[in-house]
Amino acid sequence: MITAEALIDLNAIKLNYQQLSQQNNHQPLIAVIKGDAYGHGAIKIAKALPNANKFAVARLEEALQLRHAGINQPILLLEGCFNGQDLQLASQFQLDITIHHHQQLIDLENYPLVNPVTVWVKVDTGMHRLGFSPYEISDVVARIRRTNKIKGEVGFISHFSNADEPDNPKTEQQIASFTRATQTYAGNKSIANSAGLLFWPHAHMDIARTGIALYGISPSAEHTGTDHNLTPVMTLTSRLIAIRKHAANEPVGYGEAWRSPTDTHIGVIAFGYGDGYPRLVPTNTPVYINGRTVPIVGRVSMDMMTVDLGSAHQDKVGDTVELWGQHLPIEHVAKNLGTIPYELTIKLTSRVHQRFI
Ligand code: PLP
Repeated sequence: MITAEALIDLNAIKLNYQQLSQQNNHQPLIAVIKGDAYGHGAIKIAKALPNANKFAVARLEEALQLRHAGINQPILLLEGCFNGQDLQLASQFQLDITIHHHQQLIDLENYPLVNPVTVWVKVDTGMHRLGFSPYEISDVVARIRRTNKIKGEVGFISHFSNADEPDNPKTEQQIASFTRATQTYAGNKSIANSAGLLFWPHAHMDIARTGIALYGISPSAEHTGTDHNLTPVMTLTSRLIAIRKHAANEPVGYGEAWRSPTDTHIGVIAFGYGDGYPRLVPTNTPVYINGRTVPIVGRVSMDMMTVDLGSAHQDKVGDTVELWGQHLPIEHVAKNLGTIPYELTIKLTSRVHQRFI
């Protein structure tokens, strides 16, 4: 019997893609499937989206895996290439490249390529992580054009630092800076991530890059995916493997980190940090079982966690427990754990069985 399982609803991913595409006035969308599609299984997710205009991954290795699995749609490398050999592979496998650094420009100038490549120039509009300053853009574009190695017009990308905060003026400043830096060029412009698409209409531009929302998850801690008409794609479950009577004032688990205030029953769930759940959880982090939520108590161990089922429970060993998904929004769990849903789904380990429906 399988215990820990991530159920991945491929129909939900299709519905979310349609919903986001509608929200974007049917403008093209880049489906961001880096990090094994945020832990959802990149090959299966890509195959479920035959109409996606383009995919994006962070690294060359991720793109090559998709190509080897028969994914033929355009794929954008968000981090670009690290050296000339990577660039040649990108050209051979027809991957779009992001140029964000002078060394990548030098590699493009110096290495012969089998196919012309689609190039996106990354503009640093305030994230200050990757990209050229707006004042460098005209020189960079001129050098790229002179190589005669590119397909079509040079495109432009930038990335938001605060788009999940609807009241933060930083996002409009980034949009303005990006527009000023790129408006004289004909190539495609892309600045919106999921939060940009959902919260900032001026950010839509030619093509949006959506990751988290595709998986039915809100980019904002103040919302859930269903607030945006999105359907959760992943439901993570495991099972109760023991139910134990527990006396008041007795501790549970490593470090005696929690003591029960009353007599109760402790449920033991086969899911721990070895499956990707954080080890230190604040009290009252919920799991969902038999129609209600109950709190995780004590420290999460490698293979198990303990929950307070209460004194008068009806649960049985073998019952399914949902850690997040259909009944328990991952946004709520993540907020409780002091993290973001991205970190939870991507950190699931290979011990968690993925089942696709
Ligand atoms: N674009 C870039 C450059 C990214 O790094 C990411 C993800 O971190 C995305 C787009 C997608 O962001 P989100 O998952 O918030 O939609």
